[in-house]
Amino acid sequence: MSPPQTTLGQVTTKDYRGVAIHTYNAPEEGLYVASQIVETADGLVVFDAVFHVKHAEELANYIAGLGKPVNRIVLSHIHPDHWSGLGVLHARFPKAPIYAFPEIIAYIRKNGQKILDARNEAFGPVVAKTPTLPDHDLAVGEATIGGVRFEFERQPDGESDWQSIVRLPVAGVVMAFDLVFPPETHLFTVANYYDHWVEILRGLKGDAAKGYDTLMIGRGKPVGFDVIESNIAYLHKAKELHAANSTAESYAEALKGAYPGYYGGGWVDFSSLLLYKIINP
Ligand SMILES: [Zn+2]
Repeated sequence: MSPPQTTLGQVTTKDYRGVAIHTYNAPEEGLYVASQIVETADGLVVFDAVFHVKHAEELANYIAGLGKPVNRIVLSHIHPDHWSGLGVLHARFPKAPIYAFPEIIAYIRKNGQKILDARNEAFGPVVAKTPTLPDHDLAVGEATIGGVRFEFERQPDGESDWQSIVRLPVAGVVMAFDLVFPPETHLFTVANYYDHWVEILRGLKGDAAKGYDTLMIGRGKPVGFDVIESNIAYLHKAKELHAANSTAESYAEALKGAYPGYYGGGWVDFSSLLLYKIINP
């Protein structure tokens, strides 16, 4: 069966030491947000569900076209550009359990509807109307799914209040989601967690010495570990600018001024409104 075509987003498919993983990236208007589809012996494990409904529908079509059952869907963190599309995936693959750490589920239960209402107002009615909650608690530690070993780690206070890190030791892959951003791209600094985020990144850097060589990130294609150092430098700079700026506008301008060549200037404005709690949540 030849892989299905996509017209909105882009798919990168690669064999990682015997484990095939498809990375779906939404197009620019969908913030290039990524969903990872891991092929196992008996089905698919899907990580994250993208932001715009139409991109989630394309993602669902792509997944269906792979011709294998979806055995599990996993949500990486609390941000809506990763869970807005869960309703589309759930409708298309109703038997697939949706996993997330309990803190992530609790956050969406409490804030999800308010967030979707605000994002539909800010970006036009492009995201889900109601949140779809993960229905299974993810556990920290190892799980073997379809013969592939996954290691699930939970971290507070990074790019958001709660993040997941997923390691596939056999594939040499670490899924860092929004904890790592592509090279020469602005990070989403939507919360004042600079120090702990840097600490998490220092920990991730250590994985390179353990034989991992690929990072799957929250937007864009998979990258190598060399990107982590520039992410850390960016966070140090952003922390300094946050301390020196009392408004969302001046922080955003200072950050864009510090990295004039970086992609994502538009999302710096939005991130800053969240950081300074002009938009909350
Ligand atoms: Zn995020």
